[in-house]
Amino acid sequence: MNNTILGLVLVATVFLLGNYFAYAQTGEQNSPWIKPFFEDYATGKVSDSQMLDYISRLIRNGDVPVFTHGFHDNSAFIYPPEPDDDSDLTINTISWIDPGYAGTGDAYNVGNMIEDRGDFYHTYDEHPNSPYPKHSSADTYLRDSKLFESKMDFINAAFRLPHDIEISAEECEVENAFWRNGRIVICYELFYGILNDYQHHNFDQSTPQRIYLHDGLDYANTVLYFIFYHELAHALIDVYDLPITGLEENAADQFAALIMTYTVDEDGNQIVGRNMLKTVGSYYFDRHRYSTENCPVSSPTIHACFHPYWDTHAVDIQRHYNLLCYVYGSDPQNNQNLVDLGYLPQDRARGCEHEYKRIDESWRVLLKNYAILPDRTS
Ligand SMILES: [Zn+2]
Repeated sequence: MNNTILGLVLVATVFLLGNYFAYAQTGEQNSPWIKPFFEDYATGKVSDSQMLDYISRLIRNGDVPVFTHGFHDNSAFIYPPEPDDDSDLTINTISWIDPGYAGTGDAYNVGNMIEDRGDFYHTYDEHPNSPYPKHSSADTYLRDSKLFESKMDFINAAFRLPHDIEISAEECEVENAFWRNGRIVICYELFYGILNDYQHHNFDQSTPQRIYLHDGLDYANTVLYFIFYHELAHALIDVYDLPITGLEENAADQFAALIMTYTVDEDGNQIVGRNMLKTVGSYYFDRHRYSTENCPVSSPTIHACFHPYWDTHAVDIQRHYNLLCYVYGSDPQNNQNLVDLGYLPQDRARGCEHEYKRIDESWRVLLKNYAILPDRTS
């Protein structure tokens, strides 16, 4: 195939795919030209890498503003919030979710640790074609609240790096977060998506604005922190070339849960971290409930209705029970109500203290040459 024809095919591909995504968003997935087009693609007239490379270049350049999968109507997200004198809650929750502190490293390998040649650093990258109004955007909110920046001191004190690593908050056109090409990326769309989920599941119609603004942001902040630590785990596994058996996604969830349980508030109270982890557990439960209750069995293509059993992530309801197990296991005495009220079945609960201790000890061994984790909680 000569270059001119190839170019035309690629342009057509981009056009057709763009329309396909637009149709997918509106639920009209049966347009007659879709099937033949994908058949052509499937027969190899255009290679995967050629097509993907070309499309991603156009998207990166901002020539193709595709806002489909990650797009949510964020009209209910008002930032900054209206002043609310009646409430003890404030928008800035940073003070009560301090990530903890770097520990002393007692009994670990301080003398043999690698040289610290780099730091994590945080950047923002708003999309030039962002559909979100600036004043109520995730970009503005995250910059002002310093949600991730507030964690840089902690993780740089805890982890020694062979080189600098960027942690970027950006518009990705997908509702996700990932460790890719040496960068941690947290997508703004994920923030909107979590708020959107919260609105679906916990919307209190008697005081919608207030509940949404305050509790919704606490919820979103907490879930984002968990995902942030989950992606950090992927980064550490990669950069330190850590041995992991089992699915790395599970290991990353365990690491994130562990760091969360180390979290203390300004008074050193450890309850806060466990409550945060319960909140993350409820996020996965809500996602599971939504996908189970609101989706007809015949709609497997709608993402929210999708149970990807083959995926490397555990399905949402498993992630929910795993996180509750780690909360309980980290402090059974103070979390007995999780079992007594039936949130965590006894069958799982009885092994959770051991599970948690194993996770804690294993990460300390894995990281002994690279990090000084916060002191153990008790
Ligand atoms: Zn992951």
